[in-house]
Amino acid sequence: MMSTADRIDRRAFLGRASAALGLAALGSTRGLARASAPGGALGAAGPVDSPFDWAEIRPGVFATTNLATGGNCLAVAGGGACLLVDTKFPAFIPRIARDVEIMTDHAPTHVLNTHHHADHSGGNMLFTDTAAVIAHENGLPRVRDQFQRNLSGITGGRRLAARLPEADRRATIEDVARLLDRAGDYTAESWVANTPVSTARTGLDLGGRRGAGWAEIRHFGRPSHTDNDLVLHLPHANVLHTGDVVFNGLHPYFDANGGCSSAGWLETLTDLDDLCDDETVVVPGHGPFGTRLMIREQIAYIERLRDAVKQGLDEGTPLEELRTRTFPFMEGLGLENLRENAIVFVYNELTGG
Ligand SMILES: [Zn+2]
Repeated sequence: MMSTADRIDRRAFLGRASAALGLAALGSTRGLARASAPGGALGAAGPVDSPFDWAEIRPGVFATTNLATGGNCLAVAGGGACLLVDTKFPAFIPRIARDVEIMTDHAPTHVLNTHHHADHSGGNMLFTDTAAVIAHENGLPRVRDQFQRNLSGITGGRRLAARLPEADRRATIEDVARLLDRAGDYTAESWVANTPVSTARTGLDLGGRRGAGWAEIRHFGRPSHTDNDLVLHLPHANVLHTGDVVFNGLHPYFDANGGCSSAGWLETLTDLDDLCDDETVVVPGHGPFGTRLMIREQIAYIERLRDAVKQGLDEGTPLEELRTRTFPFMEGLGLENLRENAIVFVYNELTGG
């Protein structure tokens, strides 16, 4: 669903997010540095020189919100351990892994998939033999089913590399060539998490840093964006990675085949808001990091969408007309290619279609 991601003005999002949180004093990214005036307050180098524009959002917690390359990743340094949240598409994961090792002084020992979508789990094959790869059990068969798509993320990796700035493509094309050499060894299972979870709360032990107060995986027991959404809560750092339960500044993706429910999604968003205070750094599945305001904006989008479709139904508006509309709450959002899908999904949901 990220095929037109390049349309997004990433720098504008980054600027808005950093301003909202006053993050200039934290480790700024190459992208933030570029977005500021020469010699400006954001002139410091990022935590690693990378096309993924990593930012150190809290000490030892790193995020990349590069939109064109898949879901937002988070890297968390532990005690002789390291957690990577989400693995983008296959072509990008070797570079992501190198970046993470530089930033945290450790290769990922734990990998968390926020859900099964291929732009969040596509790089799993690099870790399933060497790390604890954690996902909700509902997502495992779905990952198995997308094997051909994952494989095409390797065979079509050169095309994916074109989503990076030209200066950064060569190294990724070399990574893709190495992945292609091994592509015959990969099976569907190469992408399937080896550490499924099903409980509402799972404490993570990252090299002795453990417990509910340090790092916790949450599942809210209901379908939301998919039927297998997990979020990462870091109480010690006051950071929340929401996965695709939040799209920031973008149309959200309603996956009719992934167990999505707009009503469940609203309830889960309320649960996420309850985990936050005004200082929490929220990392969405796509779009810039920011504050809990993005959770409330996501609630408003879904509520207004459901109201607009209900009203259209009450007025007898045919779906063919309804799906062409842009409602006021949709204006200015990125991922315009997902607008129509959102209307059609809720229409089908409300009519049992
Ligand atoms: Zn998704």
